[in-house]
Amino acid sequence: MQTGNERFERIAPMIGNTPMLEIGYTYKGQPGRVFAKAEYYNLTGSIKDRVAYFILQKAYETGTIRPDDTIVEATSGNTGIAFSALGRYLGHSVVIYMPDWMSMERIALMESFGAEVRLVSREEGGFLGSIAKTEELAAQGGVFLPGQFSNMDNVETHMQTTGEEIVRQLKTLGLAADGVVAGVGTGGTVMGLARRLRAENAACKAYPLEPLNSPTLSTGYRVGQHRIYGISDEFIPSIVQLSELDEVVSVDDGDAIRMARMLSEQLGLGVGVSSGANFVGCVMAQQRLGFDKTVVTVFADDNKKYLSTDYAKPQPAQASHLTNDIVLTGVTAYR
Ligand code: PMP
Repeated sequence: MQTGNERFERIAPMIGNTPMLEIGYTYKGQPGRVFAKAEYYNLTGSIKDRVAYFILQKAYETGTIRPDDTIVEATSGNTGIAFSALGRYLGHSVVIYMPDWMSMERIALMESFGAEVRLVSREEGGFLGSIAKTEELAAQGGVFLPGQFSNMDNVETHMQTTGEEIVRQLKTLGLAADGVVAGVGTGGTVMGLARRLRAENAACKAYPLEPLNSPTLSTGYRVGQHRIYGISDEFIPSIVQLSELDEVVSVDDGDAIRMARMLSEQLGLGVGVSSGANFVGCVMAQQRLGFDKTVVTVFADDNKKYLSTDYAKPQPAQASHLTNDIVLTGVTAYR
């Protein structure tokens, strides 16, 4: 019989160690560059495979999960897809609670990975209702709750893997990060990267990013709707420590979609909407820090889950959009 750890080792080459992309651009004629981790190279196509792997491996090590436990999680998508695939790989049943307004590809993907998806309407509490339902189910026993919004292993994942890789990959180019930008869902990415990158360069700025149309970080609660799936759920998760971070960067969702489409159409980088937002956020960071500064982000997933959404339609330009003045000039990938 294989031990728990052997099973983790066998699948490990499918998770992490993603390429680093150096993307050249001009903004109003001013040349700059953005470094972005191609996280869609992971097992199920998103950065969340790292988190699911790390949390499950730790749970096996510490014995907090039993082999016949059902894995139950609340998620807006990518975490659920990651836990579905890895949970089934390890032989667990998986139940995912999700708000019912997320893209249909997400539901179909989780089901394709053998999970049971339970949709929660706005009337039933949406995102917070989904989390409450995971806790109700856990109270009955036989359940492992990853708890991504409050589990510090989520932050630890990005310190030990994503952040570690960024430090190494930039170092081979003779660079260290002066700034990091990351859209906040659970906040695991921005908190983990901030801590790891500052261990290398204490002056590194860390900008949490949110949708301009739904500024949860600035207000503390859900205000308005937005189309940058995976970020700004309905509340500020407990792992987000705004006092450790620099200013919140706000990006209009139409600008994010236009940027994601430009990366795909012009450079062949088929990234998701939050990646478009993160790119625009990096241009804003370079405006503040200087266009010669090293600013890094993540492309959390690819465009395949968004083909039924507004991503697939050309978006009208608004005067405030940075994409009006961004010209992409090229991309170089590094391992
Ligand atoms: N982008 C996408 C597409 C996501 O699914 C997520 C995670 N929900 C994020 C960004 C935000 O990552 P984090 O949860 O680490 O803040």
